[in-house]
Amino acid sequence: MIVREIRVRRALTRSGLPDIDYALNPYIGCSHGCIYCYARLYTDKKEVKERWGEVVLVKINLIELLRREASRIRGVVGVGTVTDPYQPIESEYGLTRESLKVLLRRGVRVSIQTKSGLVTRDKDILVEHRGLVDVGFTITTLDEEMARWLEPGAPPPSERVRALEELSSAGVRTWLFYGPVIPGINDGDEVVEELVGLAASTGSILYYDSLHVKPFMLAPEHPLREAALSTRGYGWRRFWERLVEKCRKMGVKCREGFTGDAVPVKRTGLMKWVGSSG
Ligand code: SF4
Repeated sequence: MIVREIRVRRALTRSGLPDIDYALNPYIGCSHGCIYCYARLYTDKKEVKERWGEVVLVKINLIELLRREASRIRGVVGVGTVTDPYQPIESEYGLTRESLKVLLRRGVRVSIQTKSGLVTRDKDILVEHRGLVDVGFTITTLDEEMARWLEPGAPPPSERVRALEELSSAGVRTWLFYGPVIPGINDGDEVVEELVGLAASTGSILYYDSLHVKPFMLAPEHPLREAALSTRGYGWRRFWERLVEKCRKMGVKCREGFTGDAVPVKRTGLMKWVGSSG
């Protein structure tokens, strides 16, 4: 893993995403290296883009900038829109933790998305400000082997489940992101059953989202090429109906992440738009 410290000009960027006014990404790049990750498309750092999962840039002056910017904003800050804010490097730099302190102590609402149990390290802050924060966990499958293939550098699903349960039990608002749903890979009845069950037992909203095919997935050697090609004729409608019906039966609030190819659905409440990250 290559780690470089960089200085940036701004901590927060305006977000055009529904229910999210600003994005905060303490790192550029993400060592979780998910094979489907769209976030690589949203950086202009060539090295990070070309070696996605292997290079992480640390915004070393983030906190001093955020202290100035946070007092001037109103709205919701999405933490981890194009990187996982709790990827391993966070245990060394603590930029996400410090950012939460700055934002929440100023009364700024925050929505976090992650695949890591490291978020429970910050339970003290999250619980103290539970009215201002929600935490979402991306879980694409509970099968550890498949998760290792899809998300090679990310913590196993079991760790995410434990963290979700811990935060939910502590009274923090939680949600579960089932996405991307990839035809023939993680769209089976068993996955649906398990994830809806997990959302039910933790009182989490379930967001779901299909795989959005991007050119990099169509490269001849890309492991998702076949699945990506099969999305076009896939029976998405039937799949969603099955999922929504399961949610209804189990009393789970269920929301679509996108409509069509990439059109965001307006959400209500504190929950944020969820994209590819975390
Ligand atoms: S999908 Fe999220 S966790 Fe995975 S590499 Fe991309 S930003 Fe990181």
